Amino acid sequence: MAWFKKARKPIASSTTEKPSRVPEGLWIKCPGCAQLIYKKELEESLNVCPKCGHHFRIGAVDRLKALFDGGQYVEHFPNLISVDPLQFTDTKPYRERLQKTIAETGMKDAVVIATGRLERIDVVIAAMEYTFIGGSMGVVVGEKITRGIEMALDRRQPAIIISCSGGARMMEGALSLMQMAKVSAALARLDRARLPFISVLTDPTTGGVTASFAMLGDLNIAEPKALIGFAGPRVIEQTIRQKLPDGFQRSQFLVEHGMLDLVIDRRDMKAAIARALRFMRADPPAAVEQVPVGVAAATES
Ligand SMILES: [Zn+2]
Repeated sequence: MAWFKKARKPIASSTTEKPSRVPEGLWIKCPGCAQLIYKKELEESLNVCPKCGHHFRIGAVDRLKALFDGGQYVEHFPNLISVDPLQFTDTKPYRERLQKTIAETGMKDAVVIATGRLERIDVVIAAMEYTFIGGSMGVVVGEKITRGIEMALDRRQPAIIISCSGGARMMEGALSLMQMAKVSAALARLDRARLPFISVLTDPTTGGVTASFAMLGDLNIAEPKALIGFAGPRVIEQTIRQKLPDGFQRSQFLVEHGMLDLVIDRRDMKAAIARALRFMRADPPAAVEQVPVGVAAATES
């Protein structure tokens, strides 16, 4: 039973359309340059406008296909599902919302954990799905990402997380906030094992996801013009009572101000990640056992 009953209906949002989402049809009008693009051409360029470089929002599966060699990967823990621990109800019961989203997306929660090869380097990738309740991070998302990192630890492989999220899942309350600490702790273990973690921030990456693992990468890479922040710009403006600068919370602005390392076009993302991983020596050509000299001598005698 809800504690408080809403007397009035919530204020309807002014816009119902989502301009970034790829719409149906053979031709698509680009929100960036207002030109018509042939849908097939758009798909071939990984849903980036070939004319102006506008990045359309894409799903987790498309991202994984674009990153893994030959689009081949193995998915892990696909059946973890939220049990609605708080029996939460807002405009409708959380359980109902979950069931509807699962039916619509064919996914059980907002992240896909996959293993495979990226330019012949074995990696673990977690890709978040925005269409699943705004890519929000609940208990299942936190658990799956943690397990993914632990898998990277066991296999001694680099971890990559592609964030696309509105933040913590409010329907799971404090339990969703705990995932920030849980995932961060797993990443700390990855760091101590000297394994690389690359964080890829896509439009949008906000709230508890930005405030935890998305900003913890050995390399934090964002897509062009991606919205990245903690609170939304309107909330900040109202709090500090100042006008925010142009491009505030967009990836380029954040690189210039030292919050991110790189902004990379989606079409170059795979090559950029592979280059970074090779630089971090993540591809052992023939895994050379590194035994400290003193220890080797001690065992021989
Ligand atoms: Zn365009």
